[in-house]
Amino acid sequence: MKKVQSICRALQQLRKRGEIMADANIPYSLNSKHVAEATRSLLHERGVTLAEIAELVMILQKKYYPNLTMEECLENVDAVLSKREVQNAVLTGIQLDKLAEEGNLLSPLQEMLANDEGLYGVDEILAFSIVNVYGSIGFTNYGYIDKLKPGVLERLNDKSSGVINTFLDDIVGAVAAAASSRIAHRKQADLEIEVTGTTEEDKNL
Ligand code: MG
Repeated sequence: MKKVQSICRALQQLRKRGEIMADANIPYSLNSKHVAEATRSLLHERGVTLAEIAELVMILQKKYYPNLTMEECLENVDAVLSKREVQNAVLTGIQLDKLAEEGNLLSPLQEMLANDEGLYGVDEILAFSIVNVYGSIGFTNYGYIDKLKPGVLERLNDKSSGVINTFLDDIVGAVAAAASSRIAHRKQADLEIEVTGTTEEDKNL
C-alpha cells in the first residue's frame, strides 16, 4: 500500500511539472512555470534567439534613445515574454506552424498556412494580442518592423527553406514591438521621476 501511495505522489509531482499529461481523474490546473518554459523552448526550437529579437528592438528604438544598450533591449524582450498573454500567443502560433509543417491541419487551413495566404490574417490578429499588452504605440512599431522585415524577420520570411513560419514571423515582430513600447513607457517614467520626482506612468507595465 505504501508503495502505491508513493507512486501516486510521484505521478502527481510529474503532472504538476507538466512532464506527463493529466488524466481524467485529476482536475486540470494551470502550471505557469511550465507555460513560461514551453514558450522559451518553442522559440529556441524554431531557431529564434532572444538576442535576435533584441536586435529588432534596437532597430526600432535607437533613433529615440541613442544611449540604449543591447542589454536593455534584451531585458525588455525577456519581460515581454514573461507575460501570460504573450506566452499564450507564442504557444498557439508556433503550434499551428508546426502542425502545418507536418501537414496535420484540416484543408483548406492546411494549404492557407503552408502558402502564407495573403487573405489569411489570423497570424497578424494573434500577434496583436502581444502588441496590445503594452498599449497603442506598439501598433506603430509593429507596422514599421513588419514592413521593413530586418534581421531575423527576413530569415523567417524566407519561403525557400520549407519551414513554415506563417505565425512565427508576426509573433517575433510583435514581441519586438511590445518590448519597444515597454521601453518608451519606462523611459518616460524615468524622465518624469528625474524632473519632478514622481510619475503617473505605470512602471509595472
Ligand atoms: Mg505571417
